[in-house]
Amino acid sequence: MFEYAPAPESRSVVDIAGSYGLFIDGAFDGGKDGNVFKTVNPATEEVLAEVAAAGPEDVDRAVAAARRAFGPWSALPGAERAKYLFRIARIIQERSRELAVLESLDNGKPIKESRDVDLPLVAAHFFYYAGWADKLAYAGFGPDPRPIGVAGQVIPWNFPLLMLAWKIAPALATGNTVVLKPAETTPLSALFFADVCRQAELPPGVVNIVTGAGDTGAYLVQHPDVNKVAFTGSTEVGREIARAVSGTAKRLTLELGGKAANIVFDDAPIDQAVEGIVNGIFFNQGHVCCAGSRLLVQESVADELLVSLKRRMATLRVGDPLDKNTDIGAINSAAQLTRITELSEIGASEGAERWSPECTLPDRGFWFAPTIFTGVTQAHRIAREEIFGPVLSVLTFRTPEEAVAKANNTPYGLSAGIWTEKGSRILAVADKLRAGVVWANTFNKFDPASPFGGYKESGYGREGGRHGLEAYLA
Ligand code: NAP
Ligand code: MG
Repeated sequence: MFEYAPAPESRSVVDIAGSYGLFIDGAFDGGKDGNVFKTVNPATEEVLAEVAAAGPEDVDRAVAAARRAFGPWSALPGAERAKYLFRIARIIQERSRELAVLESLDNGKPIKESRDVDLPLVAAHFFYYAGWADKLAYAGFGPDPRPIGVAGQVIPWNFPLLMLAWKIAPALATGNTVVLKPAETTPLSALFFADVCRQAELPPGVVNIVTGAGDTGAYLVQHPDVNKVAFTGSTEVGREIARAVSGTAKRLTLELGGKAANIVFDDAPIDQAVEGIVNGIFFNQGHVCCAGSRLLVQESVADELLVSLKRRMATLRVGDPLDKNTDIGAINSAAQLTRITELSEIGASEGAERWSPECTLPDRGFWFAPTIFTGVTQAHRIAREEIFGPVLSVLTFRTPEEAVAKANNTPYGLSAGIWTEKGSRILAVADKLRAGVVWANTFNKFDPASPFGGYKESGYGREGGRHGLEAYLA
């Protein structure tokens, strides 16, 4: 294997302040009660900034600002709203290097992902929904579709800016106003986005950002003047939110976890499938709700495939997220590392065989080597629970029927993958999989025009595409 020289992206393209306030009514200010929290770089444990923690009064102020802005914003012709969204998209493109470095610093993801995947998709979402803003009457939701009102949006830490884009772009295109809470461990890109809104001269109050922990999210979703709640995160918190919202007039969409099956048939091109498996589970350290975390491989090719997979895994470079050669960055937080470590230990103690390539992990920060488990059965916890880390469970099957039955044997239903040479088999199997997105001979492909969302405990509602407008229309 080649030794690569270090190829670090420059940190100097981003200027992180020592402290940040909340973004309410077009301006930054400290929280009413002065509470703050720190956000760290998970690759070094260095504190990046201190951020205001919004309390109930702050959430009240943000919701009130969004309510005041709603009348004039929703009254604008769609073509006028589109101009703001196009402007935001273009500013994101202009500032994409800065935002990519910021995202990698706060989240731990490799720069090649934030630079080549996250940021281009963030801009693409704003461009895409800008295009819808003046065509809502032709979207199939009646001749005069109306916005809902104030949207309270809560997002997770795995794709901080991309999840923000998925939430904010369709909300604004349809004429809603927004109060968004980013995750506690990754607040910075949302605060930089607030600055993008100012640069785009978005009217004050249309977008408000309230940083804080879970209780800030809870105030927001329970706020009586919020009309629409959109959440992405764990199934557990999703359930809590569904309970809190039930019996109110609020509209709700939930984007929760997954335990996707990536199914490899015996006629699949092995090398291509191995790339797809690696991308499916090691992309973004496996912190992906639609990750291909259960590999189902046809028994007759399992040995051959595992040899190739292990050889490929041994070439993955784990380390400094800002190095352009890095494939796997840092685990987002100490808490997430503990969860991954615990579930992996349970996998081994339940009898599955654990394997990782040799790799040296940095001494500071939160790290987990890419790991596979073979000999996994459907009863194992690592085959049932979302690990949300770089850990793959490998199961085998003999017939397509068995593959489908095993793939669907999960409380989740967000995504799945099929690897085969036969188009007819792709269609036949995809039709039987209970998953919102099914990829064929590829994995983890995203496009703003394509709806995304789950079945069962993976949540309900769709984001992206024309379908994504529906969640924001009355
Ligand atoms: P989480 O607790 O569901 O967090 C998601 C968001 O909800 C965060 O902004 C969080 O704030 C906020 N939140 C927490 N409690 C809340 C409450 N009671 N009411 C309203 N908002 C609340 O997820 P997590 O703790 O970051 O991750 C735990 C597990 O969730 C992971 O191991 C993974 O399995 C799953 N997960 C799934 C996705 C996905 O995309 N589907 C994303 C992330 C995590 P704080 O960040 O401040 O706690
Ligand atoms: Mg952080």
